[in-house]
Order: sequence, then C-alpha cells, then structure tokens
Amino acid sequence: MFARTKRAVAQYERIQRWSQATGKPGMNTLAREASALFQMPEKPPLWESLTPEQLATLGDPERPLLGKVVTPYDPDYETARQLFNQAFQKYPQLIVYCECADDVRRCLEFAHQHSLRVTCRSGGHSTAGYSANNGGMIIDVSQIRYCVVDEGQKRARVGAGTPLDLLNAVLDGYGLHVPGGGCGDVAVAGHMMGGGYGFTSREYGMNCDALRGATVMLADGRIVHASAKEHTELFWALRGGTGNNFGVLLELEYELYHLREVWGFGIQWSIDQAPEALQQLQEHYTKEGASDRLGYLAVVMSQPGKHGRPPKQVLVMRGMYHGEESEGRKELAPLLKTGHLAISKRGTYRYLNDSLVADIPELPPNSPYLANQMAGYVGRKLRRDEWASAIEYFKTSPVFRVKNGNEEQNMSLTFILIEPYGGAINRVPPHDTAFVHRDVYMDFSWISMWLEESQRAEAQKWLTGFVQPAKPLLNGQSYQNYPYPETPDYAQRYWSSNLDKLEKIRRHYDPKDFFHFPQSVPMP
Ligand SMILES: Cc1cc2nc3c(=O)[nH]c(=O)nc-3n(C[C@H](O)[C@H](O)[C@H](O)COP(=O)(O)OP(=O)(O)OC[C@H]3O[C@@H](n4cnc5c(N)ncnc54)[C@H](O)[C@@H]3O)c2cc1C
Repeated sequence: MFARTKRAVAQYERIQRWSQATGKPGMNTLAREASALFQMPEKPPLWESLTPEQLATLGDPERPLLGKVVTPYDPDYETARQLFNQAFQKYPQLIVYCECADDVRRCLEFAHQHSLRVTCRSGGHSTAGYSANNGGMIIDVSQIRYCVVDEGQKRARVGAGTPLDLLNAVLDGYGLHVPGGGCGDVAVAGHMMGGGYGFTSREYGMNCDALRGATVMLADGRIVHASAKEHTELFWALRGGTGNNFGVLLELEYELYHLREVWGFGIQWSIDQAPEALQQLQEHYTKEGASDRLGYLAVVMSQPGKHGRPPKQVLVMRGMYHGEESEGRKELAPLLKTGHLAISKRGTYRYLNDSLVADIPELPPNSPYLANQMAGYVGRKLRRDEWASAIEYFKTSPVFRVKNGNEEQNMSLTFILIEPYGGAINRVPPHDTAFVHRDVYMDFSWISMWLEESQRAEAQKWLTGFVQPAKPLLNGQSYQNYPYPETPDYAQRYWSSNLDKLEKIRRHYDPKDFFHFPQSVPMP
C-alpha cells in the first residue's frame, strides 16, 4: 500500500478514535451533514460505496495522484471547500488539488465514472461563487503555478493556477508586463477567460488580449493547444467566454510588454464634489482625452467614522501613469483644480498595484470577505444630474457598528467601482475575441459587504435596491468577470452579439454539457 493511502487511513482512524473519546462529531458526522446539503437526494454519496482510501486515490490505490484529494473525512475539508468570498458556502464531495495534467485527467475519468458534477477552481475569486459546487468534484489547479519567461521573444508560459501577484513578481524582475487586475490572489485562468481588467488596460488592453496560446484538457481527457494557428475557434472563445465552459485550462501563453516603473497617484474629492468629478472623468479620461498611459480606478466609498462619528463618504481616484511624474501631473491638472492629491509615489508596477488599493476596502484585521457585486457598462455620456442620482443612492448605504481593535467604528461597506475603458481595450474590434465590450466608456459596478450574518440582509437590500436607479445609466451589458448569480438574461449581458458564435463553439468542445454551471454558455 502506498504511503499516501496509509496516511489517509491512519488519519481517518485517528479522527474516529478522537470522536469516540471526546463525544464530538467525527468526520463521518461532518460527511453526513455535508451530504444532507448536497441537494442530490437521488444519488447516494460516494462514501457509501467507496472506502476513505479509495476516495483519497480516486478509486485506484495502486495509482496515487501527485496532488492531494480532500474529502469530508479530512480535517482540511472545512478550509479546502471555502472560496475567497465566504458568502458562498458549498459542499463538494471531493476537492482535488491537481499538480499536473495527469492529475486533471484522473479527475475527469473519475467524474465520468461516478457521474459527478465537475467545477474548476484556480484563484477561487468568482464573484458569484462559481468555482465550487454541492455534491460534486472541485478540480483545483492552484498548485499548477509557474511563470516561465522567454525574455528575447517577450513571451511567458504561465500555469493556470498562477496568482496575479506571483505573475507580477516574476515579470517585474525582467521589466516586463502583462495587464491584469489589482487583486494579487486572483489567478490567471478565471481572470483571463472573463477578460481581465487592470491599471494598464487602457495602454495594453484586457488580460485576454495578451493571450497568444492556451493548453486545455477537454472533457474526454484530450489535450488541445489553441492559438491563432490551431483550434482557432476555441482560442477565440477562451478570450472572454468565461471559465468552466470548454475544458480545464492548464497553461496560458502571454505576449509581454516592456514596463519598468510607473508613477502612482491618489486623488480625493468630497461626496458633494463627486457628481461633477465623475462627469469630468467620463468626458476627458475614458474614451476620449487622457493618454492611454494613464490608468485608474474611481471608487465612491466611505471611510470609517471614529469616536461615534458617521462614516465619511468620498470619491477617490487611484491610478498609475506610465511615464514621468511631471507628465502625469500635467494629464491630471484639470482634476487637481477640485480634487486633493493624496498619494504620489514612484515604483514598479507590482509595488504600486499592491499598495494603491491596499486600503480599499478598509476592514478590521482578519475579517472574512463577505460581499456581493453587481455590474453594468456605461455606453453613453452621462449628464451631471445622472451622476448625482447615483451618488444620492449611494448616500443611503447602511451603516454598521463594527469593533476594530479596541475601538468601535461606524462603517459603511458599500462601493461604486468605476473602471475606465477606452485606449487599447476599445481598439480591438468587438468580434475579434469573445470579449465583446469594446465600445463603452466604463465598467460601473457596485459592491455591498458585510462582516456578520446579521448584517447580510441589509447589505443585500442596498445592493439590489441600486438596480432601478442604475438602470437608466447603463447599456444593458455586464462584465462577465463580475458575475452575479440572479441575473436572468446573463448570456445576452455578457456576450451580446458574440453569443451565437460562442454557443456553437461550446457545443463543439463540450458536446455533453459536462462542464455545466448556472451561468454556462447556453447550448444551442
Ligand atoms: C477581491 C476581488 C478583486 C477583483 N479584482 C479584479 C480586477 O481588478 N479586475 C478584474 O478584471 N477582475 C477582478 N476580479 C474578478 C476576477 O477577475 C474574476 O472573479 C475571475 O474570474 C477570478 O478568477 P479566479 O481564477 O481567481 O477565480 P475562480 O473562482 O477560481 O474561477 C472563476 C471561474 O473560472 C472557472 N475556472 C477556474 N479555473 C479554471 C480552469 N483552470 N479551467 C477552466 N475553468 C476554470 C471557475 O470554474 C469559475 O467559473 C476581482 C474579484 C475579487 C473577488
């Protein structure tokens, strides 16, 4: 018997002994509780027919995986099943931390054999909790993480589970860059397939625009390489078609851009100045006006109210200019007539990417991340009164009393997040990739967080209450990397005029709808 299997059995027996001695529930109880939540009453859970060691080796003790299998028998199960956003609680039967392509193939074989639903997970940051399921298998690729740089060709081969922070750290060493999001724990697989927006996207495009090749394992275990030369339709679909639709993405190949240092800045306005500043930003710092070298986020948010004071609502702009500080300041000069320059520092992309938004949101230490997010696109110029209507709604944000260290604070954990488009994003024609949103001014999303279950209903009420006031401002499309579970017309919103083509490609590469999830690309 292999050492790994022996360990699994020993661990199981240890838990059972501990359970009997303490009278506390053992892993069998946890497994039963989980199975009640599986919502698959017609199918008995796997542990009724398989032993713990069979589960731990995916049914073949003679052929252990390189990676690790976590089942409800394991003490790690509670941690392993969690996503970044703990608002979504799911109970899979198996979580498999794959370390290589062969582990992924074993997962697929086992899932077919036992008719298990399969969900891929890389960084686990899906805003709708779509990298977990109830009662099925999670194929976790977070251990397939590496970045191999070909400096001469300005190319990088990157493992599907590589987090953006690791990617940025490696590329910084070469003075090379690929555009991508601000959160370092987001991983490339999910991020790229949903588009991938970051501070440098106005200069270099979406993360998916830098993709030059991808290696994918299809549902039947075949490995295909998609690029401009082979499996071209799949290559088209992967760039914006979202994850868990076509196969398990194993490796990405990116084109890289030279980027050594940038100037980072932060500007702040009072909430009363926000409508005018937002109108000015849209007019001169999105599709028209500002140089592509300027990238930023604008966030309407609240700073914690200390000593019994209410939270302070503000508009902040955090961004980077790829060039000299003096040139950057010139670009921003009209904004600095009303806004206050609160941050000014120079550094590498990675350093500024981490530090510019480190205080958004400003939560007490060790707080769980519990949030819901809805999103839309602004497709026309908004009048000042329209911006004012959004700000008026923001002012209705719930206020929570929160313990932060030794102090009680008043906090509003709501945000309007604006990500400006234009530049390189909009230069790609909408039908060149599955990412269709190429003619908009900005992504407009709103986020509502909470820290305790008792605050959730109020946070959710604010989130959904924004749908009506936001509707006239938005163009009916949404960014597919910010999915929201209860979006009935999601396919039209995410893919619009690219939907027909995407459906056909999905039918070709996943004909049996094996990778189905609630917001899959529909089957024609
Ligand atoms: C705090 C936070 C900050 C964010 N910041 C940004 C930002 O700045 N810019 C931006 O554009 N987006 C941002 N996002 C959104 C993020 O880009 C998307 O949620 C993205 O899909 C996450 O990718 P992931 O791999 O980390 O997530 P996961 O949840 O692991 O995966 C997302 C989807 O892809 C599927 N998937 C994962 N791995 C694979 C694979 N190997 N093969 C096939 N399918 C797979 C999953 O099943 C799921 O459906 C942010 C999200 C959060 C929570």
